[in-house]
Formats: sequence, structure tokens, C-alpha cells
Amino acid sequence: MIAEKLAPGVAPSPDFIPLLVPVVQGNEWRYIKECLDTNWVSSVGPFVDRFENDFAAKVGTQFAVATVNGTAALHLALLVAGVKPDDEVLVSTLTFIAPVNAIRYAGAWPVFIDAEPDYWQMDPSSVVDFLERGCRWHEGVLYNRTTGRRVTAIIPVHILGHPVDLDPIIEIARKYGLKVIEDSTESLGAAYKGRGVGSIGDIACFSFNGNKIITTGGGGMLVTSNEEWAGKAKYLSTQAKDDPIEYIHEEIGYNYRLTNIQAAMGCAQLEQLEGFIAAKERIASCYTEGLQGLPGISLMKEASWASSSWWMYTVLVDEAVFAADSRQLMRSLNSRKIQTRPLWQPIHLSGAHRGRSTTKMPVAEKLYQQALSLPCSVSLGHEEQGRVIEEIRNIAASATPGKVLCN
Ligand SMILES: *Cc1c(COP(=O)(O)O)cnc(C)c1O
Repeated sequence: MIAEKLAPGVAPSPDFIPLLVPVVQGNEWRYIKECLDTNWVSSVGPFVDRFENDFAAKVGTQFAVATVNGTAALHLALLVAGVKPDDEVLVSTLTFIAPVNAIRYAGAWPVFIDAEPDYWQMDPSSVVDFLERGCRWHEGVLYNRTTGRRVTAIIPVHILGHPVDLDPIIEIARKYGLKVIEDSTESLGAAYKGRGVGSIGDIACFSFNGNKIITTGGGGMLVTSNEEWAGKAKYLSTQAKDDPIEYIHEEIGYNYRLTNIQAAMGCAQLEQLEGFIAAKERIASCYTEGLQGLPGISLMKEASWASSSWWMYTVLVDEAVFAADSRQLMRSLNSRKIQTRPLWQPIHLSGAHRGRSTTKMPVAEKLYQQALSLPCSVSLGHEEQGRVIEEIRNIAASATPGKVLCN
């Protein structure tokens, strides 16, 4: 039942409030039973087609290709968008690691971009600055001045349910012929200037991992309105099979397909999307109301040009004012059976990808120190949420500067 690994020292108990758990209360049983009853259990079947069609319609693209997970969708998106080995791809440093790993699977290199301080997303001015000053345009190709490598794509990651400010990024991408791959895995249902996240760049990816807005247990989707790219993605996800009878392969492909059983669950989950997002919005406004004005706590905001899907409600803890840092607050809440979580270590600091960046990323580093995500399952009850708010207020009241809360 617990989607996220428990924080140390906490065992599940009836009054335990988890960070994020899925809600499976629609047609999941019925559709999955249909797969079992009809023997369509594997990687082709009517639910795969239906999930792809329904999903493309929901996001606002012409095509969708279901994949085994979101990381696989990102890998395929890079390949079909034409990213080649030794190319460079701009990507948010403040993100879950998946898009950066996918860049390396394609043989390309990440160029990290800092977050902006207001909505914590990829900073468009840093993108423009790097492309205009750090790169050289030569005979229709953009080269990184420092490494000499071709720069061919940008992956803005819409983190925590809020969109990236895409217009300036798309404008400069068009200027230099770069492809924009939206990592929309955390922001299904969010909109940027009235357009669905995932329908704005050249291609986009979604995830249906257990903690995402909708889940298939594990799964992903690539969406695009480029028919050739969609066909190529399907082909590559199916071991690049050129002849289904003779098993002729002209290219190296992957086994990245989603099963019909998972797609059946996806269809049922997608039917509930609007309700899920309404619940997330309700939870967000309840936190905003309940924690407003608490000294040292900054709340998550929504830009005037954005409609957030509020996937993961997150606050910033200013240690100097709150008298506890984000990790101390996490441990205190943990001891009160409330599960919270910091954001990801910015990827330019991670051992896996360290050394790829020479510039400082002060905003992402500060957000990493201060951020704490609060429980926000769609099923979170009003009283339970009241307890989270009350405990944070209690901790704030009992904390005085210099006093250690708990360890
Ligand atoms: C969840 C996630 C993914 C993809 O995850 P999978 O577990 O492979 O489905 C990619 N990028 C980000 C930012 C994510 O949060």
C-alpha cells in the first residue's frame, strides 16, 4: 500500500499518513479482468490502442506511444528527435534523475540548467544565456564553445505539477533548430497559457509509476503530433521488427512496450484524471490556507500563466527563521507518523553525472536544502491533512533557535 519507501524508523500503522499512495477505485478491476478473460495479457491488445488514443486526445497531441516506463519514453523521444551520440542536451538540474540518464543512454551529454526561484522550474533566462553566449552558430549547427560539441535538444522538466515557462525556451529552440522534449512525467493535466503540458514542445513524455498522477503500476507514454516520429518510436519499442513473420531487423531496437493489462489499468485511471486533479487542487489550497503566514515557511505558488496539477505539494523551510531545517522538520513529522520527503539532489552534484557542469546552480542548491514535500495522496482525508498542518504548526511553536528538535 505504501508507494514510497518509508522514512527510517516509521512502520505503517492505521494513523500513519504516507506521502503519496495511488487510488484504484474506478474501472481498474473490470478492465483488467477483461484482459484475463479474453487472454489479451501481453504487449498487444485493445487496451493498448485505446489507452494511446484516449491519452493523445487528453493531452492534445495527434499520437501517443505507450512504453514500459517514463524513462524508456524519454530514451525513445531523444532517439526519434534525432539526438546523436556526443550531442549535448540542455536539461533541468533540479529533477528526478531519469531524463539525465536517458540522455546518456542515447550517448549524448547533459548541459545542466539552474531553476528559477519563483516556481522552481528550468530557468528560461539561463537557457537563453547559455545558447546565446556559451554557444557558436556555424553553418546551421550550434556548437558549445567550451566542449565543441553539437547542441541539439532541450528537455524542460515540469516538476511537481507546475509547468516550465516554455515560450522563451521554444522561441530560442526554433531560432537554432533545437528540439524541445517536454518531460511532463510529473505534470499530467497541468496547462501552460491554456495549452496542455506535453502538447507544446516537439515531443513529450509521461510516467505512470505508482506515485504519479495516474498509475499503471509502472508505465509511460510518449506523445507527439509528428507522425513519422510516433511510428519510429513504436517501431523502436518493438525491437525494430521490420517483418513480423520472418523476424527481419534492420536496426537495433528495444523491448519497451506496455502490456495490455497495464494499459487496461491506465484506461481506468485516465477516466478519473479530472477528479484526481480536483482533489490535488483542494489539498493544495488547504495547505496554502493552513500554513499561510507561518514564519520561515514559504509555500508553493502557481504562476499567472499556469494551471498547476499540484502533483506534489512542497514547502521551503528557512532554517534561520523556522528554527529547524527541512531535514529536522522531516524527522519531527516522521516521529509523528507523517511521511514527508526532500526534493532530489540537483543532478549536477550527483556522482552519476558530476563534472558535466562548471557553472554554479545556486537556486537549485538552495531549493534542495530547503524543500520538503508534504503528504498529498488523492485519498488524503480532510482530518488527516488537518493533522499534518497542526503538527507543523506545533513544531514551529515549540522550536526556538538553536534548539535541536529530534534526531
Ligand atoms: C517519474 C519521473 C520520470 C519517469 O519515471 P519512470 O519511473 O521511468 O516511469 C521521468 N522524469 C521525472 C522528472 C520523473 O519524476
